[in-house]
Amino acid sequence: MLDHLPSPHSLPPRKVWLKTFGCQMNYHDSERLLSHLEEINFTSTDSRDDADLILFNTCSIRDLANSKFYSHLGELKKFKQRLGRELVIGVGGCIAQIEGEELIRRFAHLDFAFGTDVIDQINQLVLRAYLSEEKFSLNKWDRGRDYSIETKIVHGEPQAFVNIIKGCDKFCTYCIVPYTRGREKSRRLAEIVGDCTNLVKEQGVSEITLLGQNVNSFGKEHSETLAELIERLEPLVGLKRMRYTTSHPYDLSDALIAIHGRSKKLANNLHLPVQSGSDSVLSRMRREYTIEHYLDLVERLRAANPALSLSTDIIVGFPNESEEEFLATIELLNRVRFDSIYSFKFSPRKGTKAAKIDDLLTEEVRGQRLQQVQKRQLEIQAEDRQKMVGQRYEILVEGSKVMKGQFKWSGRTSCNRIIHFLPEQEGVDYQWQWIEVEVIEATALSCQGRVVRE
Ligand code: SF4
Repeated sequence: MLDHLPSPHSLPPRKVWLKTFGCQMNYHDSERLLSHLEEINFTSTDSRDDADLILFNTCSIRDLANSKFYSHLGELKKFKQRLGRELVIGVGGCIAQIEGEELIRRFAHLDFAFGTDVIDQINQLVLRAYLSEEKFSLNKWDRGRDYSIETKIVHGEPQAFVNIIKGCDKFCTYCIVPYTRGREKSRRLAEIVGDCTNLVKEQGVSEITLLGQNVNSFGKEHSETLAELIERLEPLVGLKRMRYTTSHPYDLSDALIAIHGRSKKLANNLHLPVQSGSDSVLSRMRREYTIEHYLDLVERLRAANPALSLSTDIIVGFPNESEEEFLATIELLNRVRFDSIYSFKFSPRKGTKAAKIDDLLTEEVRGQRLQQVQKRQLEIQAEDRQKMVGQRYEILVEGSKVMKGQFKWSGRTSCNRIIHFLPEQEGVDYQWQWIEVEVIEATALSCQGRVVRE
């Protein structure tokens, strides 16, 4: 490893093309990587052909992200041979954490691999790859007691993710995360408050999402809590909205539920992954809660904040899931009426307990169940979103696009719904404005609105 980094002024300007797969944590890490690389004179490019450095930030949770990554990496073999100039290729993230050495062995055109706990060493790793012919993989865990970082953003936008806890101690039987991200480690509350204050006051951030694999477990080792953190951030002038993700129902505290009723800045939305509507499946998943417990949380959250919208994750076809167990999930959709769901077919992850189960369920049945869940959820969404028509919402405008031949802007409500709207006048730039819109039309998948206050 290099002891000292050369001064950026002594390094030639170079371009990096970074491809990210997977969850918000990976996107957050990617931004961190780009931010570090700026310090050694790299700028980001959208064109792979222009790049001097190609990085992949990989995900091992879903088959699709996995196979997309391998196909991208495979393609690069000929690309690198044809290029006729220096190109360094690195692979980071969850796949590199568990298969880094194997990747280096299998793909001769790959220069280095790096795990999830060495993100902040990227500059040293990149310079080492440039200076040496030797290929390498670094995936050691950070065994230190403390977890201290500063949030780095390069996008200049008013939305920022702030990582507050890394890793996960839950070991759900289907999940690879504890093996790719390590054990839970929280930042100190005071450091996060300072970090967020800087983002709001110095960098114009007005919406912060507190991020981690299980944010509800934040601060255990220091006797600090997520509820305290939210209360400390609440008075921050300039901060308009806060979110937190992802939550584990088992660790959702009474104090946190109460804050949903009190806070003026906490969004009217909570993503609370349930995974299955069946107690027996939840037990085989080792989720540590029952449906009765989950429904009790939902009831208390809605009592604290009646405007709260809930989203969730569903896995259908967990090994040997019976028809009765599956129908319990449909029943749960009917009872909770989630605002939206992310639903997936179970797919075994090598190294997890669930991957070792002798599974009799067929892919055909899994596919049918997924369709059934998605169909029922869309019916619920179509019915419930009608209630939005005529209501007014404050949104943060996130972008624009042409929809059915019309140029429209889009923004996100506090309850995490996207509303599309026509500009009041041609040429008005609404990007990153907080404005008020009234919903004029709503379907299961989209809402159309009109501006009522800029
Ligand atoms: S709580 Fe989430 S991240 Fe942790 S093991 Fe379970 S599913 Fe994976």
